Amino acid sequence: MRNLGSFKGIGLIGALMLVIGVGCGKASNEAAGKRAQAAAGSAAATFAGGYPIRVVTTCGMVTDIVRQVAGERGEVIGLMGEGVDPHLYKPTRNDVRELLEADIIFYVGLMLEGRMTDTFVRVGRQGKPVFSVTEEIDPALLREPPEFEGHADPHVWMDVAAWSECVAMVAKTLARFDPAGATVYEENARAYREELKTLDEYAKRVIGSIPEQGRVLVTAHDAFGYFSRAYGIPVKAVQGISTESEAGVDDVVRLVQYIVDNQIKAIFVESSVSGKNIQAVIEGAAKQGWEVRIGGELYSDAMGQAGTYEGTYLGMIDHNATTIARALGGTAPERGFSGKLTPAHE
Ligand SMILES: [Zn+2]
Repeated sequence: MRNLGSFKGIGLIGALMLVIGVGCGKASNEAAGKRAQAAAGSAAATFAGGYPIRVVTTCGMVTDIVRQVAGERGEVIGLMGEGVDPHLYKPTRNDVRELLEADIIFYVGLMLEGRMTDTFVRVGRQGKPVFSVTEEIDPALLREPPEFEGHADPHVWMDVAAWSECVAMVAKTLARFDPAGATVYEENARAYREELKTLDEYAKRVIGSIPEQGRVLVTAHDAFGYFSRAYGIPVKAVQGISTESEAGVDDVVRLVQYIVDNQIKAIFVESSVSGKNIQAVIEGAAKQGWEVRIGGELYSDAMGQAGTYEGTYLGMIDHNATTIARALGGTAPERGFSGKLTPAHE
C-alpha cells in the first residue's frame, strides 16, 4: 500500500537490464559495479600528481561530502547543479572531458546515475579510479522495495545515519589514494560525521513531533523511502523510485482518494521533479471538496542553490525535515536546527 508506483518499477527494471546487459536479480547491479572497478584497476591506484587533487563528482550530495572530507587537499568539481535530476542526467561532452581529466571520481551508484553508467565504465577502462560512495555500505542499511526487486533504492542520503557511512567510505578511499593526507581525511570525516549525528537527532525529533494522525509524507516521486524509515513517517508518492517512469492516471486517482480519506493537510513538491502530478492531485482532491495545500518544496535528488545553506547536504536535510514538520502540524524552529535556514516566506 505504501507505494503507488509499484507497477512502474517493472518498466524501470527492464530498462536497467538493458543498460547493465546481464541477467536478472541482485547480482547484476553488483556485477556492473565490479566491472567498472575491474576496468579501472582503481584499488591499486595512488595519487602522484600535484595538489589539489582533481576530484570529479556527480550530484550535489556527493559533491558536498567529498568536499567536506577532502578539505584543501582536493578541488571538487560537481557535474550536476541545482535542480538537476540524476535519474535522467546524460553526461555532456564537457562532463566527459572533466571525467577524463579527473584524478579520482565519486558517484552515488545503485543505478541512480543510470545514464552515466556507460561513461563510468569507459573512463574506468582508461585507468581512472572510479568509486561509488555506496559501494561498501552495509547491505542491512539499504532498502530493497518489493517493486524494485533485486535493486536497492539509491536515495541513501535521505537517511543521515546511512549517508554518514558513505562519508566514512569517502575518507577511507581518499586515504588509500593519497596516503600522505590520511590523517586529514580521517579527521575531516570525524568532525563532519559529528555534525551529521546532530542533524539526524534533530530530524528524528521534529518529524516525531507531527501528530500521528496526519504524519504522512506525500511527494512527487518515491525518493523518501529512507527518510520514512529513518524518521518514522509513512510516504506516498505519485511516481515510482525513478523519475524515468511516468505516473499513470490510476496512480493519481488512488493518491487523491487516500488524501481525501485521511484528510491529509499538505503535500510536497520537489525541486528536481516536475510539479504537474502534484498539481493534478490537488485538483482531484478539490473536486471531492477536500482542500490540500502545497506544504513546501523539498530537495529530493538535488540540493539548493550553490553558495547557500540549502545548497549543502546539511541544509538540504534540515530544510526538508523542518518544512515537513511545520507543514504537517509538528514543532520545528522556523530557521531549522542550526538557525541558518531561509524561512519559507522569504
Ligand atoms: Zn530520485
